[in-house]
Amino acid sequence: MARMYYDTDANLDFLANKKIAIIGYGSQGHAHALNLKDSGLDVIVGLYEGSPSWEKATSEGLTVKKVADAAAAADFIMILLPDETQKEIFNKEIAPNLKQGDVLAFAHGFNINFAQVVPPAHVDVVMVAPKGPGHLVRRVFTQGQGVPGLFAVHQDASGQARDRAMAYARGIGATRAGILETTFREETETDLFGEQVVLCGGLSELIKAGFETLVNAGYQPELAYFECLHEVKLIVDLVVEGGLAKMRHSISNTAEYGDYTRGPRIITDATRAEMKRILSEIQSGQFAREFVLENLSGKAGFTAMRRREAEHPIEEVGKDLRAMFSWLKKV
Ligand code: NDP
Ligand code: MG
Ligand code: MG
Repeated sequence: MARMYYDTDANLDFLANKKIAIIGYGSQGHAHALNLKDSGLDVIVGLYEGSPSWEKATSEGLTVKKVADAAAAADFIMILLPDETQKEIFNKEIAPNLKQGDVLAFAHGFNINFAQVVPPAHVDVVMVAPKGPGHLVRRVFTQGQGVPGLFAVHQDASGQARDRAMAYARGIGATRAGILETTFREETETDLFGEQVVLCGGLSELIKAGFETLVNAGYQPELAYFECLHEVKLIVDLVVEGGLAKMRHSISNTAEYGDYTRGPRIITDATRAEMKRILSEIQSGQFAREFVLENLSGKAGFTAMRRREAEHPIEEVGKDLRAMFSWLKKV
């Protein structure tokens, strides 16, 4: 078993007397900044002038500066900008303000692994990546717990990079749940694979294909929505709590038999072969190159796909149905 590290393994003193700049105040940024502040650390936020997040961070008790000024003032710089913007902002505003002994940190390995961001040799380069969305990272922290995470060292200029990364993980609450050590390469490749094949790409297509099959066969879209989308969460909750075994224990024998006999006809040898191809495109940098070029050329394809997907009938049925689910509304 890989080793998990907890609060007692991480020492916040490695960040004592250090000013931490959180660059970006979105999903991850707001959670890291507020959790670190609540952990007693010295935090500022870096944003661009006119950012809607500026006002939000200020009203939540944080000092906000322009990115370059925040980077210059800080000793530990955590980059929580959208991945596709990091290269340019790093080169223009952060790199010129890095001094000997600073720590440059990321929550995802993409830009380091694919050499979009190339840091100077005199700084530590680390990753602390919570394995959960930012809003959960904040909410769970305020409830006294943490979201588990990964950490990695890419470059150790100070001799303390690993301790500093672990201290940061403690500051955001991740060591309350446990952190695992990885490399930038492993985190990047597994993260991209997971989101493309299983969590986002695979699941979205599975849901849509099931829904379309039922609707095209003449069943009511509302029923198709329930069976192919809504119930996903109920099943996934059981899987996360107790593995596939707990889910299979909880469903009917009919459903369990259908699972064993029909599932392998959906994920076939052809599907597995395609998974391997997708993995090699990630490993070779082909996916990264495609994504970087897509963004450089103004996102024409990305925007078109977003619009087309938003217009899928499952979204319309879903919007109407969810409006009627009083029990789904947030308390
Ligand atoms: P978001 O898109 O939620 O937030 C980005 C933030 O950056 C916003 O506050 C935005 O400000 C700000 N920003 C955008 N452009 C600039 C700029 N030019 N100068 C300064 N600030 C700018 O990003 P995420 O939190 O989703 O992602 C951040 C990092 O965390 C990424 O590396 C991602 O891979 C990683 N990550 C994200 C997870 C998640 O849960 N979303 C999970 C694990 C890792 P404004 O909104 O005001 O324009
Ligand atoms: Mg990801
Ligand atoms: Mg059923």
